[in-house]
Amino acid sequence: MRVLLVEDETAIANFIAEGLEEEGFAVDVAHNGKDGYRLAQENLGEYDLILLDWMLPGMSGIEICRAIRKENKSVPVIFLTAKDTVDDVVFGLETGANDYLRKPFAFEELLARMRVLLRNSSGDQHVFRYADIELDLEVHRVTKAGKPVELTQKEFALLEVLLRNKGKACRRTRIIESVWDINFEHDTSVIDVYINFLRKKLDSPGRPSFIQTLRGIGYRVNDDA
Ligand code: CA
Repeated sequence: MRVLLVEDETAIANFIAEGLEEEGFAVDVAHNGKDGYRLAQENLGEYDLILLDWMLPGMSGIEICRAIRKENKSVPVIFLTAKDTVDDVVFGLETGANDYLRKPFAFEELLARMRVLLRNSSGDQHVFRYADIELDLEVHRVTKAGKPVELTQKEFALLEVLLRNKGKACRRTRIIESVWDINFEHDTSVIDVYINFLRKKLDSPGRPSFIQTLRGIGYRVNDDA
């Protein structure tokens, strides 16, 4: 899951970005309106959700939201706002945002609102399965044959991408965009390392790996278990 966060207050931006990364999201952060708008334009189809501060230097959250909605009707947008009169809230939602949070807010509250919107946009699904492997987004847990398996943030996010796209090829570029963020500059061979971590933790002994390697393309979890 990839999120764009546009927030000019560095402390708040860091607090949100770090929290989301711990939950397995890839987060691109912009600290002013113009940079936020540019990132939104460049990568619009790739963001699963956008968090917009309302008051931003350069271009307001409202203006960014309007511009986004002209191009993309479906990506969920949440406003982060210190404005709290009813009129402002109505106005914010009229620009096409899906929800808003008043600062200061608890991180858990933000996460809960995000989960609701992401669930709606992905057809209500929050549990993904392959054979005896189960990933539950709501409680952020992976089990194999009913037993909990400890995964790191990146392993969890990678497994989520693979299971969400069960039966389809997950291209290396798509994996990088979903699991790592825009500042990722390493060799994409880091994916292979993490795929091996997942195989070690989740494969069944004596059987082929649940993750197929597609040479030159990426990886796939089959649909036929
Ligand atoms: Ca602000």
